[in-house]
Amino acid sequence: MNKKYYRIAIHGGAGNLQNHQFSAEVVNQYKSSLHDCIKKASGLLATGGSALDAVTLAVQTLEDDPLYNAGKGSVLTNNGIHEMDASIMNGIDKSAGSVCAICHTKNPILLCREVMNTEFVMLQGVEADKLAEERGLEVMSNSWFTTNFRLSQLRDLKDSRKTQLDHTPKEDKYGTVGAVAIDHAGNVAAATSTGGMTNKRYGRVGDSAIIGCGTYASNDSCAVSCTGWGEYFIRNTMASRIAGRMEFADQTLEESVLHTMSELKEMGGDGGVIAIDHFGSLIIDFNTPGMYRAWKKEEGEIQTAIFK
Ligand code: ASP
Repeated sequence: MNKKYYRIAIHGGAGNLQNHQFSAEVVNQYKSSLHDCIKKASGLLATGGSALDAVTLAVQTLEDDPLYNAGKGSVLTNNGIHEMDASIMNGIDKSAGSVCAICHTKNPILLCREVMNTEFVMLQGVEADKLAEERGLEVMSNSWFTTNFRLSQLRDLKDSRKTQLDHTPKEDKYGTVGAVAIDHAGNVAAATSTGGMTNKRYGRVGDSAIIGCGTYASNDSCAVSCTGWGEYFIRNTMASRIAGRMEFADQTLEESVLHTMSELKEMGGDGGVIAIDHFGSLIIDFNTPGMYRAWKKEEGEIQTAIFK
């Protein structure tokens, strides 16, 4: 069998990220966080680890970093609490696990791995948090996830009386995190985790929890993780659509990502995707001013970027 090369890409959300809004110090903070994360996860791939374990480790690492809207540092709902969504998929057998509106599990992506090992695919809310406890995962009080930045973000939106229903999230900086990888065996995997959209109401669930929308992986095509205005990603079934175009319309990964992203834009949606196909092609595309991102090909250096 020919040697396969590993590759990995991660994102920390897309959005209205403009160079002039960032001090050099903040840019460095994000870049070194992305760099450290990909170093850890690619180290695992380099020593023969699976794509599934690498995307889990990458997302877990970003969830632990309060810079991002996932795990600690998640955005707040209209009620001032955290409700987190996450999902993971393994390209080998299309096994998948997802959770939505969970309030206590420290690392939602680890709970997705547990769900993957049950007869279910998607668990929600209090009952999902219960599984985390049963499986010995760390659970925290809901306020443990709060940061001062997220409190002021919620306060600002409420002061301008904007909920997701009456403002255009296009102004937002989506901070969802995600990872895609291919390992030495040629298997692909994808994972995504988020606190959702600031000031969300009525138990709103976004694309990040939904297999085929925010996350998808199949060894027949590719692995995809998305970030952006979730409602548009759900309506477009973004992640599985990218895979579907490769499988059924014979498009390359690049053609498929560009085609699907242009449809998203036409509908009025914004955000970005990271994707790796079963041949190892790696594409990152977004229609916002920026996207926190990093990638590593086995034969190359770690790359990090924020702006277009
Ligand atoms: N897609 C996420 C959601 O709609 C938000 C994000 O990407 O930051 O919940």
